[in-house]
Amino acid sequence: MSAHKLAVFGNPVSHSRSPEIHQAFARQAGIRVDYERIYAPLDGFESEVTKFMEAGGTGFNVTLPFKEQAYRMMGACSDGARASGAVNTVTIRSGRLIGDNTDGPGLIRDIIRNLKWPLKDQRILVLGAGGAVRGILWALLQEEPAGVDLFNRTPQRAQDLVDHYRDSRLQSVKALRGPYDLIINGTSAGLRGEFPGLPDGVVEEGTRCYDMVYSRERTPFIDWCREKACQEHADGLGMLVEQAAESFSIWFEFHPDTAPVIQDLKAPSKSS
Ligand code: NAP
Repeated sequence: MSAHKLAVFGNPVSHSRSPEIHQAFARQAGIRVDYERIYAPLDGFESEVTKFMEAGGTGFNVTLPFKEQAYRMMGACSDGARASGAVNTVTIRSGRLIGDNTDGPGLIRDIIRNLKWPLKDQRILVLGAGGAVRGILWALLQEEPAGVDLFNRTPQRAQDLVDHYRDSRLQSVKALRGPYDLIINGTSAGLRGEFPGLPDGVVEEGTRCYDMVYSRERTPFIDWCREKACQEHADGLGMLVEQAAESFSIWFEFHPDTAPVIQDLKAPSKSS
């Protein structure tokens, strides 16, 4: 049985745990996959994808900062990818690229199914306006929150997303007031160990915090949540596994059991 050739493209990409997650799924499905991390130069994503296709690749994931560029390269797209204008999952079929976005469904599954946090009627603050946030907003809005405020270091990018979605529940904010029921960090700031902090008023007793960033160490955003005594907090490991499961099911029509994979990745022997 030959292995299905898969990859994740990013810059940086060395931190990605996708290879071990997809190997675990492949064991459950009884198939063989060869899943590698491919570092693409900022101006070289398209040529790296071409090389991968020529080498017999059958599908790939896309991580920062290429999700919007990937969307523009697709021959066809799912509704979710089209709604968000960002692609994180690509299927190669007869030389054609078919794009999906599993970040949104992955986040929702982790929040609702795994963490059992509510989204309906919640006041939500999303930090960031990059490819990942672009991908989650459409799924978040489908869960009928009371409202979603978008705050980004570069305000114009948040405004561009609001203009893209045209949903009255979504607005970009330049000054943060709050309080919020849920704060989702979708910035990459934590990847470099920084988190600028937020005004005190955004948090109250019942506020929950979700960091889309995941790390072997506690992330700076989660440190901030603990300092502010937020009710509950979680990092993005569950989302990572759930979005990967959605990708795997698109490629192989097999939806893996995510719970043992999340447990395994959280185990101390795997986190050092
Ligand atoms: P991206 O397209 O490069 O966007 C980065 C975002 O972070 C932008 O909004 C940027 O603001 C902001 N940012 C970067 N450094 C900052 C700083 N020092 N202070 C404040 N804001 C800062 O990246 P992405 O694809 O959206 O990914 C964002 C994060 O989500 C990454 O850490 C990624 O690992 C994580 N993620 C996790 C999962 C998961 O499954 N858990 C899935 C997808 C993404 P500007 O617009 O001002 O530059």
